[in-house]
Amino acid sequence: MLPLVSVFERLGGEFEEVVFAHDPPTGLRAIIAIHSTMLGPALGGVRFFPFASEDAALTDVLRLSRAMTYKASAAGLDLGGGKAVIVGDPRTTKTDELLRAYAGFVDGLGGRYITAEDVGTSLADMDVIRDRTRHVGGSSPARGGSGDPSEMTAYGVFLAIRAAAREAWGDPSLEGRRVAVQGVGKVGSGLVGHLTGAGATVVVADVDPDAVTRARSAGASASVDPGEIAGAECDILAPCAMGAVLDERTIPAIRARIICGAANNQLATAADAETLAGAGILYLPDYVANAGGIVNIFEEFHPDGYDAGRAKRSVERIEQNAQRVFDAARERGVTPAAAADTLAEERLRSARHAGVAAPSR
Ligand code: NAD
Repeated sequence: MLPLVSVFERLGGEFEEVVFAHDPPTGLRAIIAIHSTMLGPALGGVRFFPFASEDAALTDVLRLSRAMTYKASAAGLDLGGGKAVIVGDPRTTKTDELLRAYAGFVDGLGGRYITAEDVGTSLADMDVIRDRTRHVGGSSPARGGSGDPSEMTAYGVFLAIRAAAREAWGDPSLEGRRVAVQGVGKVGSGLVGHLTGAGATVVVADVDPDAVTRARSAGASASVDPGEIAGAECDILAPCAMGAVLDERTIPAIRARIICGAANNQLATAADAETLAGAGILYLPDYVANAGGIVNIFEEFHPDGYDAGRAKRSVERIEQNAQRVFDAARERGVTPAAAADTLAEERLRSARHAGVAAPSR
């Protein structure tokens, strides 16, 4: 077990609340981190993962919950940032009883934290969690939720790419542009459809050959080895697989003018944003581009209930949000990554100054 003092030092006064949820009968060991409720309830997925240690689980949940605050703020949503992790291998330790025990802890937070799907959890899991709490987003439509957010995420990434094209070439049209999509799972495959529909030529890569086959039948004109996609000849690179794909080793090989994709935490280090700018590559921070899913889930909590048409219109704001980030970067002489962070922080600061109180418990 971690010495208590080290936990408080790690929180650094920055997090509103961190809950260690332990339920021995079901084997539940979870951590829920509420980074900020300054703009609204803290929304963030629950990651079910065999963390190597409790320390690694705490590091991850703190980092991810902070990122959710930035993502919600940058998207202009009245939502805060939170995240949860469940320690264990989802293939062997996940049971409905354990998920319901987790849901009980979420419910005990009285709506200050809203849970959702993430790595290792599924739509079906959200339905099980819905049995014990209404503070869950992205359950199935039959349970009053909005379902899998991936299609809205893909649509938002597509619109963000249009904004990047306008910034790079003065024209948002993707007609005739060549786009390399790394990872064609739920989001990447949807993105392929939008891109080809807009007249782009798409090359894909995935470690799963079936995913490549599906992407080819959805309109991708070519596929390359997963090790070659980052350096593929293209105008736009869309990372839609895993994080930390942009680092000092991969950046020199990139031939794209634009990088804009769905994968979370694409930069290996914050300094890589500068390296990209130095190489003349326009990089839109992932959390601005991939906010479609959270925007969609937020719509579930609308007083009139979820409406897919209204959700789609909300996702369409991502194009303007991305443009605002590029404008701020140009005006302030900083990278889009730095500009997005600053815009998100400014919105939080003005909420604090306006005296927006965190919802009472
Ligand atoms: P997914 O698991 O459905 O798809 C990921 C795909 O990437 C899979 O087909 C996988 O085989 C492939 N892949 C894994 N490693 C690879 C590699 N080294 N090279 C090439 N392909 C590889 O996941 P998803 O829901 O499509 O999400 C994709 C990314 O977007 C993730 O980083 C996720 O965190 C992020 N994201 C997803 C959503 C959403 O709504 N699903 C929202 C925000 C962010």
